[in-house]
Amino acid sequence: AHLDRTAAVDGAVHAYLHVDAEGALAQAEASDARRAAGSPASRLDGVPIAVKDVLATQGLPTTCGSRILEGWIPPYDATVVDTLRRAGLPILGKTNMDEFAMGSSTEHSAYGPTHNPWDLDRIPGGSGGGSAAAVASYQAPLALGTDTGGSIRQPGAVTGTVGVKPTYGGVSRYGLVALANSLDQVGPVTRTVLDSALLHELVGGHDPRDSTSIDQPLPDLVAAAELGATGDMSGVRIGVVKELSGEGYQPGVLARFEESVELLVKAGAEVVEVSCPTFVHALATYYLILPAEASSNLAKFDAMRYGLRVYPDGVDAPSAEEVMRATRDKGFGDEVKRRIILGTYALSSGYYDAYYGQAQKVRTLISRDFEAAFAKADVLVSPTAPTTAFKLGEKLDDPLAMYLNDLATIPANLAGVPGISVPSGLADEDGLPAGFQVLAPALADDRVYRVGAALE
Ligand code: GLN
Repeated sequence: AHLDRTAAVDGAVHAYLHVDAEGALAQAEASDARRAAGSPASRLDGVPIAVKDVLATQGLPTTCGSRILEGWIPPYDATVVDTLRRAGLPILGKTNMDEFAMGSSTEHSAYGPTHNPWDLDRIPGGSGGGSAAAVASYQAPLALGTDTGGSIRQPGAVTGTVGVKPTYGGVSRYGLVALANSLDQVGPVTRTVLDSALLHELVGGHDPRDSTSIDQPLPDLVAAAELGATGDMSGVRIGVVKELSGEGYQPGVLARFEESVELLVKAGAEVVEVSCPTFVHALATYYLILPAEASSNLAKFDAMRYGLRVYPDGVDAPSAEEVMRATRDKGFGDEVKRRIILGTYALSSGYYDAYYGQAQKVRTLISRDFEAAFAKADVLVSPTAPTTAFKLGEKLDDPLAMYLNDLATIPANLAGVPGISVPSGLADEDGLPAGFQVLAPALADDRVYRVGAALE
């Protein structure tokens, strides 16, 4: 049914870069047989899933939305993909994304943008717009995304879906093509909070192949979602972050946010206002740390090891460096080049302390703001994104305007804490979905599920 839906609508939505109909059907048949024999491989055996194209899939193309990886077929599976296969979830295909997960609109994909199923002239968010659009347009019941600065939560907000960024280290990053290693997390994209909890429990947990993976059991996320669904929030202290609402936020988004807070109060929650003064520096901090890590990660695309290789025009017997330069020139898009330049500059000798070093210090202050806020509140809440889905092309030529979409989502990545975005209704001025973000202390992912489920 999902493959039929994709055949019918994905010409207009473009959620997928690659659909594996044959593979998915074979996996579905094997699952049918297991379940008929009464021995399902997991609770989600047989439930199909879409996977963001930044996760390595053995035998299936993995491009990261970039020309430079065109034609690359990974010889191995990311740990989370291996887990999906073992648990019997048919993999429908690979979803579109901003190139190397840099962006908030999916317009930086080298293969053309994804369209928001609510309004095809609008962006589905990014970088994981493909995963969110696949779920929102009923082409997949579940998807995996990655969130480095909001790429699961912001697409969730603007497509009316649920997206979760787990605690840093809570889900394996092995086989995830790194954007910024200290910020990246893999997480679920679904239509309900309970679905996210089920998928998170499946893919989460310790992986010895990821040195930053946390060796400790996950909290019971499904139980937390079920508890939240009872609608009882008594005893839960909700912190409204002063710095993450108000100026710069669309009125309709703020109205839905305030209504959701009211709903939680009616359910018995206590609301406290908290202030996190260094959050105003989060965006600047992120856009130093991220390009620094990304520029170093992208150095491996040297025209020798993976994907594309371009020989420079009119050069006889070009040197390795000339081939590398021609390949990187053609293979990387503008946003990727911009961040490589920013990152290598921030890391260069003489500037390192002033930029990268300073950003790391502010990052520590942001974590301390979280600690102080979590001493007063069990969870922190804000709108997920400042606006609803904007028009395709509207911010493409203005990188700073594009970066501002991540205002509310970035602090969680800098501090490594978990966050969820759940739909909070439609904004009055445009009838488009708005998102409500819930953040919790590291390792307390269960809290975001409890509060998120109470809003469904
Ligand atoms: N929009 C942010 C960026 O461009 C977030 C990306 C992400 O989470 N992968 O960096």
